[in-house]
Amino acid sequence: MSLCLACGFCCDGTLFNRVPLTEAEAPALKVPLQVVDGQHHARQPCPALEGTACRVYAERPFTCRRFRCLLLEAHEATEVSLSGAVEIVEATRALRATLAAALSRPDAGRIVDEARALRGPLEPAVAQALERLEKQLAFHFLGQRSRQPR
Ligand code: SF4
Ligand code: SF4
Repeated sequence: MSLCLACGFCCDGTLFNRVPLTEAEAPALKVPLQVVDGQHHARQPCPALEGTACRVYAERPFTCRRFRCLLLEAHEATEVSLSGAVEIVEATRALRATLAAALSRPDAGRIVDEARALRGPLEPAVAQALERLEKQLAFHFLGQRSRQPR
């Protein structure tokens, strides 16, 4: 098992909310393109994601080929074992589930954006769950990188 097949956070909406791609790359994903600020993209969860696997892996967009999260880099540098990295993925998934439960919504990558989109003061349980998840995502996956777009 590879780390990415145990994860999928960069495809399911947990880390990003869209996949930048060119018009030439779009047919592989079989979705209508959207355009924001002149940039073509497909919304996440990515329509090419099946479970935690990419259905178009051999033809995936350049932005997907280029992206490597901090955890993957650390694992490839043998700083974190596969089992240790998977534990971090599972701990992150648990934090995401806690956020979803606090919002009484199904657990899915898009829950991060749903929580951020809420207007007005957040319920304490939601605010705490969102803060813990965002810290986890920044520390283990994104670092100083912006969450969107990738
Ligand atoms: S690159 Fe990182 S976030 Fe994306 S699937 Fe692999 S381990 Fe998960
Ligand atoms: S095309 Fe594949 S690698 Fe890229 S976001 Fe979609 S599922 Fe992930």
